[in-house]
Amino acid sequence: MNESLKAFLKRAGIYHGLHGRYRMFLLWLTIKRYRQRYARYQGSGFTCNFCNATYSRFVPEWPDAHIASAIAQHEVIAGYDEHVYCPNCMSKNRERLIRAVIADRIELRGKDVLHFSPEKNLFRFLQTQASVVTADISPGYYLTTDTNVKQADATSLNFAEKSFDLIVANHILEHIPEDEKAMREFYRVLKPGGTAILQVPFSTVLNTTIEEPEINDPAKQEQLFGQRDHVRIYELNDYLRRLAAAGFETEPLYPQQLAKFQRFAVQEKEVVFLCHRAS
Ligand SMILES: [Zn+2]
Repeated sequence: MNESLKAFLKRAGIYHGLHGRYRMFLLWLTIKRYRQRYARYQGSGFTCNFCNATYSRFVPEWPDAHIASAIAQHEVIAGYDEHVYCPNCMSKNRERLIRAVIADRIELRGKDVLHFSPEKNLFRFLQTQASVVTADISPGYYLTTDTNVKQADATSLNFAEKSFDLIVANHILEHIPEDEKAMREFYRVLKPGGTAILQVPFSTVLNTTIEEPEINDPAKQEQLFGQRDHVRIYELNDYLRRLAAAGFETEPLYPQQLAKFQRFAVQEKEVVFLCHRAS
């Protein structure tokens, strides 16, 4: 969209509404197309734990050529895979994994949940059982998911301490220059005994985390970190160290422990970071 038109629509206060409707229309078209294209794979294989559809193939997602070298070089576990999107509802592998882990490990009923940068399917699931607050630094983008989404900077959360039993921030911290400040904020607003699920892309072949917190150069960020708005790639052990420094007792769930969720077409090398605050 033309930048001056965008600025005009923003000033008029209708940009996010229009853009949201446009994105919903695109999603509707995408779902329609994939339901047709994947009809022949229906019936057995992977099951979507959001819509219960079953297909032998889900929709793949691979990095574009210009970011593929960063992803490949550091063997980043970022979600790219042969089976990523459910052809019936377009839920993503990382949403299905978090839903599976929550259903397996975390009691939601009557709980207070903070869902940061909320994914639509996951938000709807959480909301069926818990009281959910959603938030993002750019809330307008999420209005089609939750009309009550709050404006919040993860490094300076406007929530009282010990407010939430569960925090879900799925692939957020790699975007944030002051990530350790954000980790401390998530810890602060978590109730003792609560858990934050803080997923990030990570590498196990890097010697340490590579990052440029001050960078503001999308082309270079794609080249270095594999995405235009990422400021780092975490090395797994360094990520765990940062979480510990913020106060968390992190319980990583490794691929072996997550193998039982393969039936939901989840990334097989993913690690889930259950970050507990001691009671
Ligand atoms: Zn689905």
